Amino acid sequence: MKIALPDLAAMDRLGRAIAGVLRPGDVVALSGGLGAGKTTLARAIIAGLGHEGEVPSPSFAIVELYDPPSVRLPLVHADFYRLERPEEAEEIGLDDYRDGAAMIAEWPDHAGGFAHEPGCLSVALEVMDDGRMAIVEGGADWLGRMPQ
Ligand code: ADP
Ligand code: MG
Repeated sequence: MKIALPDLAAMDRLGRAIAGVLRPGDVVALSGGLGAGKTTLARAIIAGLGHEGEVPSPSFAIVELYDPPSVRLPLVHADFYRLERPEEAEEIGLDDYRDGAAMIAEWPDHAGGFAHEPGCLSVALEVMDDGRMAIVEGGADWLGRMPQ
């Protein structure tokens, strides 16, 4: 599915739509180069889950954790840009962070990728003359969940 995202309001709508159907165990894998809009969409999802404070970019810490009641369900926001090997995702204890939580993953390919997981929604963002384009692909668990 291709979604045109001409401005920040469109990013916000997509983020809130994803937040509305997100479940524990899901991964939202956000790919695209620097400046593609991954953190912008992550912030819209986290706001849609009910978080009202700031959402720092996790690029230095790699993972930021959001727990209820700040958000509707436990959420890990990860930015794997700085990983040099996919195995490092295990070494930082990613499985423990993910236990019972949903995850938003920026630079998912640096962590080995998550597209093989049934609960993975892949969103590839591309810079266009007019805003951004999202190419959205969901695993089996996502079929029928996203509004058309
Ligand atoms: P990334 O995390 O992929 O590096 P960011 O989310 O930090 O990218 O976004 C980079 C810039 O692009 C920000 O200034 C943001 O406001 C802008 N931006 C994001 N989405 C859009 C859009 N759909 N239209 C116009 N500008 C956007
Ligand atoms: Mg970012």
